[in-house]
Amino acid sequence: MNTDFRVNKRLEEFLEMCVLNGVKGFYPSAVSKYVNVPLNSSFDLLFRRTLSGELLLIWEVRCEGPDCHNKITESEGKKIESDYFLCNKCGNEYELDEVLHIPRFDISKEYKEYVLEEQNENKKKDQLLPV
Ligand SMILES: [Zn+2]
Repeated sequence: MNTDFRVNKRLEEFLEMCVLNGVKGFYPSAVSKYVNVPLNSSFDLLFRRTLSGELLLIWEVRCEGPDCHNKITESEGKKIESDYFLCNKCGNEYELDEVLHIPRFDISKEYKEYVLEEQNENKKKDQLLPV
């Protein structure tokens, strides 16, 4: 996979933008568009950032009923192993092998704090520059 410095730089920008705008989490498709990489590459890129601590991988199970898309459940890290799901919005029932696990990436608390601290440091440095 082609992860050159441009891709990494663009991804950092995206993650910092999320923190500064109070975005808690996002789907790989958002990164695919912003960084301009194929969808499956964006998953790999983001997954690596779970290993270095910026992100958490959350698996969502959503109702596939027409016009519902209710989030039935979610789980951090591992896929959900329950064998039966009930949508409490439309009442549809699902077996495990019928449900789609949708990956979402959430910003970790540590990374959020780090970006905000960096931001403050940079502001302080700016004030030290001669005018
Ligand atoms: Zn439903």
